[in-house]
Amino acid sequence: MATITLEMLRKEYDRGRVVAVDDLSLEVDDGEFITVVGPSGCGKSTTLRMVAGLESPSDGTIRIGDEDVTEQSARTRDVAMVFQNYALYPHKTVMQNMAFGLRMSTDLSKDEREARVRETASMMGIEDLLDDKPDELSGGQKQRVALGRAIVREPDVFLFDEPLSNLDAKLRTTMRTEIQRLQNEFGITSLYVTHDQEEAMTMGDRIVILKDGKLQQVGRPKDVYENP
Ligand code: ADP
Ligand code: ADP
Repeated sequence: MATITLEMLRKEYDRGRVVAVDDLSLEVDDGEFITVVGPSGCGKSTTLRMVAGLESPSDGTIRIGDEDVTEQSARTRDVAMVFQNYALYPHKTVMQNMAFGLRMSTDLSKDEREARVRETASMMGIEDLLDDKPDELSGGQKQRVALGRAIVREPDVFLFDEPLSNLDAKLRTTMRTEIQRLQNEFGITSLYVTHDQEEAMTMGDRIVILKDGKLQQVGRPKDVYENP
């Protein structure tokens, strides 16, 4: 069971002069897909980075399932993150990029890792790209690879930081459908950050609206839309 529970989560910078996340409490249910929306600077990325373990909270608690992970390092959390800029290793092939995360998080043999990567790659329609390096790929292909690299690990939790912002409108629609398909198939508990309200509305089981680091509203898209 992979719920995500945030209790009074807080992040200050500059010795308290900047409060990026201001006592945020939220429970993401097992298998739920929550979109987090709000203007630039409202604390979306900082929240995700704390859940991923890339940044430590100033105060508050983060639990994944029953486990308090607040003080745990990123690599001990079963969390996969997809970034706006793809964050692929430029000198590694697609196969190596996708296998790398598996190496960190499982004790599979090299052959088993490659088999799992091939299986995921064919599910994502990128099996022909496995020998390519990232700079040989289009933006959409890179984001498919980044998604594949995350999904191949079968993580408990998926974190998305504006994954579609660098894509053109048509590709954004395609990838949105793709992410929803993966969600239907795997039902991985997800936090999905976007500044695009329409994206948040169409993709989220529930939407969280952040303002100045605070939770302003949380609810089903229809309820949030009708009571803005
Ligand atoms: P969003 O993702 O919603 O655009 P961020 O989480 O990136 O917002 O930032 C929230 C606030 O915290 C902003 O005011 C930002 O300038 C500030 N901030 C983020 N990271 C740092 C940092 N490393 N040092 C100082 N301030 C930061
Ligand atoms: P996003 O809005 O997607 O978080 P930003 O450009 O705001 O992107 O932030 C990119 C990086 O810069 C993040 O690692 C963030 O923590 C850091 N950052 C953001 N604002 C500040 C700031 N005022 N001072 C120092 N670092 C910052």
